[in-house]
Amino acid sequence: MSQKYVEKVLLTREEIQKRITELGAEISRDYAGQDLLLICVLKGAVIFLADLMRQISVPVEIDFMAVSSYGAATVSSGVVRILKDLDVSIENRHCLIVEDIIDTGLTLKYLEENLNSRQPASLKIVTLLDKPERRQVEIAPDYCGFQIPDEFVVGYGLDFDEKYRSLPDICVLGEK
Ligand code: 5GP
Repeated sequence: MSQKYVEKVLLTREEIQKRITELGAEISRDYAGQDLLLICVLKGAVIFLADLMRQISVPVEIDFMAVSSYGAATVSSGVVRILKDLDVSIENRHCLIVEDIIDTGLTLKYLEENLNSRQPASLKIVTLLDKPERRQVEIAPDYCGFQIPDEFVVGYGLDFDEKYRSLPDICVLGEK
């Protein structure tokens, strides 16, 4: 049976923090004078949310959504289910989806359509990581931390089978 192991560090904690500071400044500029609702996609994006929100200078509120993930597999099934919906109404509010990683784009495409049907004042997307090579549907984040190659990554909130989320760096998971 093959075993997973942490093969290498792709992005260090210092690189991640530096980029999040830049993203926070950009978002603060774009939303100047407005209130913002950050919609965090559980669970992978929680650490990114926690760091990003502290770099945003406009007033923010947070809410959480959970959608079905890959479980123990590393390949997307393409099936998206809402496991936990938002607690608040987003009608007439400026909303920013906070995502950990965009891979095929299927999850975000679904989320974007679902949230847009609730008539927010605006809806944008920030993702820490983007794997553009793997895209199956057309979707582009408004803010992106890093574009990365087609490798399965863990750490900084991202898991494999619920493990590795607490690694401070973003690492590539290998098999042996
Ligand atoms: P998509 O629907 O864009 O294919 O997948 C998005 C979701 O798949 C992410 O929110 C994340 O949960 C999971 N995912 C995609 N690529 C990776 C990866 O490299 N590592 C981990 N840990 N999760 C991934």
